[in-house]
Amino acid sequence: MSSAARLKKGFEIIEINGNYCKGCDICIEFCPTGVFEKSGTLSKKGYYLPVVARMEDCTGCRLCDLLCPELAIVITDGKKSDNIRTRADHDD
Ligand code: SF4
Ligand code: SF4
Repeated sequence: MSSAARLKKGFEIIEINGNYCKGCDICIEFCPTGVFEKSGTLSKKGYYLPVVARMEDCTGCRLCDLLCPELAIVITDGKKSDNIRTRADHDD
């Protein structure tokens, strides 16, 4: 389970891997522009997942990726055909 959104500028994609997310809300609390919101979607493990609600406000700072303790946030560069993972590679 994952949620994804594409930046309007067209170069970055943020995905939240629901298999890894523990619903700690760090991404919601610390994103400086309030991109994430809590969703009503439960993961298979029973955590309410965040969702990318305002992708247009994302600055691409990558703080969410750095702070997520579960490595659940994946930011990829949509310009590159091989999509670069920023911290770790996760397979669903
Ligand atoms: S910081 Fe990571 S583990 Fe915590 S809610 Fe956000 S995506 Fe899930
Ligand atoms: S990259 Fe920065 S601005 Fe974009 S969602 Fe993550 S913390 Fe927020």
